Amino acid sequence: MKKPFVTLEQLKEITKSYPTPFHIYDEKGIRENARRLKEAFAWNKGFKEYFAVKATPNPFIINILKEEGCGVDCSSMTELMMAEALGFSGDEIMFSSNATPAGEFVKARELNAYINLDDYTHIDFLEKVAGIPETICCRYNPGGVFKTANGIMDNPGDAKYGLTKEQLIDGFKRLKEKGAKYFGIHSFLASNTVSNEYYPTLASILFELAVEVKEKTGVEIKFINLSGGVGIAYKPEEQSNDIMVIGEGVRKAYEDILVPAGLTDVAIFTELGRFMLAPYGHLVATAVHEKHIYKEYIGLDACAVNLMRPAMYGSYHHITVMGKEDAPCDYKYDVTGSLCENNDKFAIDRMLPKIDIGDLIVIHDTGAHGYAMGYNYNGKLRSAELLLKEDHSIQLIRRAETPKDYFATFDFCDILKDY
Ligand SMILES: *Cc1c(COP(=O)(O)O)cnc(C)c1O
Repeated sequence: MKKPFVTLEQLKEITKSYPTPFHIYDEKGIRENARRLKEAFAWNKGFKEYFAVKATPNPFIINILKEEGCGVDCSSMTELMMAEALGFSGDEIMFSSNATPAGEFVKARELNAYINLDDYTHIDFLEKVAGIPETICCRYNPGGVFKTANGIMDNPGDAKYGLTKEQLIDGFKRLKEKGAKYFGIHSFLASNTVSNEYYPTLASILFELAVEVKEKTGVEIKFINLSGGVGIAYKPEEQSNDIMVIGEGVRKAYEDILVPAGLTDVAIFTELGRFMLAPYGHLVATAVHEKHIYKEYIGLDACAVNLMRPAMYGSYHHITVMGKEDAPCDYKYDVTGSLCENNDKFAIDRMLPKIDIGDLIVIHDTGAHGYAMGYNYNGKLRSAELLLKEDHSIQLIRRAETPKDYFATFDFCDILKDY
């Protein structure tokens, strides 16, 4: 059973001040989860989580993670700017980008961030535009298919990211010649993995690579970045990852592979986004229409602009009809938004309790890659973001967009100035 972290009574109170739709985040859940992750990797002295800013680029949320000891993983100029504004610098920032514009490398160097190069040619590019830093990381792509004991997880051979092994080894030699002293290895081989095997299997691949790299180049490996990809159970019947088992699996690979090779001081980094936040966010909407044609439809005041994953990937997001948690799920609905796009459906053929107009609807697991993927198609405006604080009070952490925001890029002319 998936249970919302807010009650119907709380939502009724909240909607007096903040109309639906909105995203709401659970501070307590975020903090407890961040502490569990830290505990799972406490065996590694240098461990650090660099929260993937793109998942939930809200400064209030990132500040909570900062207080829990997290750094940030940035991939663009504005994300670097947000990191800077929040007081992150140096080894608290990982810059993992691709097809990187020169100005972003310059900004990352200015902040003294760890730079993670996505390509062999970026070595010369970085040297030219911003200079080679003392510590540098390269992203590895092993090609082929990525398998764990449970089967094929993804297809790195088709992915645009990273360097081949030959490029990485040659690249480290060249970076060393150009003055780099400390090195990191990064890889991201599968997304939203619901398996305790993903990180340990990835770690084994990267640890073996680190041993080979050390033998062939003599460089000092300072950190190994397991990146993102640890998923969550979006479906109620899925088994959640156990971060303690995952941390222990990585520890075992570390003891088996790195330690015998004399690599006893390598820090483990992660760049988790989804795992850090997805379960601790809800999109809250109101049922505003019902429609009976060839199928039964419920129309919400939220749409794909607020949560794109179902439309984009056909993703499952669990739905709770507030106040009807114990009612039988004996109605089959398509739950839709209002875009002029037939894929604007939060759920298709979903068995739910009978929904009445005005019912509050919680869409689960929207805390990562939720609001962040929002857009303005159909002239729809993005919602507010609220924080349910540990003392149960509510804080507005992003206001809803207004038409003025939508028209802001025409402020060089007079046409829409009256709106
Ligand atoms: C998106 C991304 C992440 C976070 O991925 P999750 O699936 O949210 O854990 C981490 N690192 C990089 C480089 C990414 O692009």
